[in-house]
Amino acid sequence: MRRVIYPGTFDPVTYGHIDIVRRAVALFDEVVVTVAINPSKKPLFTTDERVEMLRESLKEFDSKVIIDSFDGLLVEHAKQVGATAIVRGLRQISDFEFEFQMALMNRKLSGDITTIFLMPHERYTYLNSTVIRNVASLHGDISNFVPPVVHEALKKKFG
Ligand code: ADP
Repeated sequence: MRRVIYPGTFDPVTYGHIDIVRRAVALFDEVVVTVAINPSKKPLFTTDERVEMLRESLKEFDSKVIIDSFDGLLVEHAKQVGATAIVRGLRQISDFEFEFQMALMNRKLSGDITTIFLMPHERYTYLNSTVIRNVASLHGDISNFVPPVVHEALKKKFG
């Protein structure tokens, strides 16, 4: 049983994240999508809301995808859930430096967990949760970028 963990803030989940999950599902038996609680980031959505939106958005993958949340060290959580790898999305060069640092640090902390980078479809390379939150707050149309459950939740937040 090969299990991978996909950590992120997911504030909120977008079609870019879902593209990465789809690719990870094709490579592994199980994908644990884990919401980083990290209150210092002051997320728009609570942890429970982010978990719930992921549950709804990732239904099609059934039991191949498990959703949870974590607080603390990612490599410790990865070990707890029995993951042998961490998956992260790489959209463009600007993602690289931070991701590279984090992957090397995680490898120092736990040499037996490997970080794997997956590239989304080109149509998602410019998408990130911050842009979605900003456009939604200005009442722009974000329906092509996020699943319906997220669209509804953003409408509720911003009226
Ligand atoms: P974090 O705060 O951990 O970066 P995010 O929710 O912003 O949390 O991103 C989680 C992961 O998903 C990261 O690896 C990020 O690069 C990736 N990601 C975010 N948006 C996209 C996208 N549009 N396409 C592919 N990967 C993405």
